[in-house]
Amino acid sequence: MAFKKLGLSSALLKAIDKKGYINPSPIQEKAIPLVLEGKDVLASAQTGTGKTAGFTLPLLHILSQGNSLRNRPVRALVLTPTRELAAQVYANVKEYSEFLDLRSAVIFGGVNQKPQIANLKRGMDVLVATPGRLLDLHNQRFLSLDKVEIFVLDEADRMLDMGFLRDIERVMKLMPEKRQNLMFSATFSKDIKKLAQGFLRNPVQVEATPENTAVEVIQQKVYRVAKGKKTGLVIKLISEGKWQQVLVFTRTKHGANNLCKKMISAGITAAAIHGNKSQGARTKALAGFKSGSVRVLVATDIAARGLDIPLLPHVINFELPNVSEDYVHRIGRTGRAGASGEAISLVSADETSYLRDIQKLIGMKIPVEIVEGFEPDPNASTAPIKQGQRNNQFRSKPKGNSSRNNNKNRRPKHNINKRSSDTRS
Ligand code: AMP
Repeated sequence: MAFKKLGLSSALLKAIDKKGYINPSPIQEKAIPLVLEGKDVLASAQTGTGKTAGFTLPLLHILSQGNSLRNRPVRALVLTPTRELAAQVYANVKEYSEFLDLRSAVIFGGVNQKPQIANLKRGMDVLVATPGRLLDLHNQRFLSLDKVEIFVLDEADRMLDMGFLRDIERVMKLMPEKRQNLMFSATFSKDIKKLAQGFLRNPVQVEATPENTAVEVIQQKVYRVAKGKKTGLVIKLISEGKWQQVLVFTRTKHGANNLCKKMISAGITAAAIHGNKSQGARTKALAGFKSGSVRVLVATDIAARGLDIPLLPHVINFELPNVSEDYVHRIGRTGRAGASGEAISLVSADETSYLRDIQKLIGMKIPVEIVEGFEPDPNASTAPIKQGQRNNQFRSKPKGNSSRNNNKNRRPKHNINKRSSDTRS
């Protein structure tokens, strides 16, 4: 299907064309017409499916059809869990609205509020924000939400994981009751459903069904390896494979720094991105990675969430996440929007139970390889890594489990509860 058939204005089609998109992704094809109809939408989609354009394009269309209000109060609010995601959504909003008379702004914590306040004072139609800074600036009376017509809650699951539920509830109280609501989440736990029931009105559910997407298969592979040999193996894989853009996940900030240093010593340009890094350092690392001057980005889960890195060919799990759904988020960084990718996991004996949980969640067995000289330690204990070593202060163990029995090596279905698409709840 072509974008033209979705009912978007010619100004938006021009912006889409400029971005080089040819066809809408499945989530866009499903969500855009529903949003244009004014429906509340509950969408199951993770980063990489094109979800941002899925809500931004129709939102801009709707706003551009109405009259801009005097003083330009916020008419559409997009709430995101992290500053990186806020910055990326904002960048998308800017690009897609290039040929429209609409203004946008972004606000997030961790940086000086003054430039953000100056922007707010100029007025805007679309505001992209993280919850804390939004409430903070609202309390200081730098913005009002009482003219919001469309509210988007992006990555709702991560919002809850990061403890933003109370903030979200506070934000909702600041907006008019009569408004259109869109909620995006990669996973659907009981808490997410409860949140959705609390503010969506007769929502239409849509999901990005990976089987039908243009995204080709992600090749997944496990290397069984002794814990102490992981660094050597990851350096060997990257060097010998001549991989140029590799995202490596570690479980801890300390682990990310350590691995980054060792990569650099081995002559591989690398940068670490995690919660202890300043916003400036993160932006610089990401820019270097995107431009190709940094070959390896070593990241923790929370820091990597929402990074917009198109066409990422390689993702390596230096350590498996202890929350299985994070595995799905991580490997979703590869094979994005039509490109194929490879997701590799280095698994030591103490991660055996994590691997088992992940395979259960994705409903398939991941092929295992052993590299000569980097064999697993036959005497190592398979007892899981101790709690204290986890970098997991925000997360709660998910309760649900998907049970898709599909032994093909393909992109996993990430939504926990089976739903047919486009069904009304
Ligand atoms: P998202 O899931 O919103 O983070 O988008 C993932 C990536 O896909 C981004 O780099 C987008 O620019 C890109 N993208 C979004 N929609 C399309 C499309 N229809 N065709 C090709 N690429 C797209």
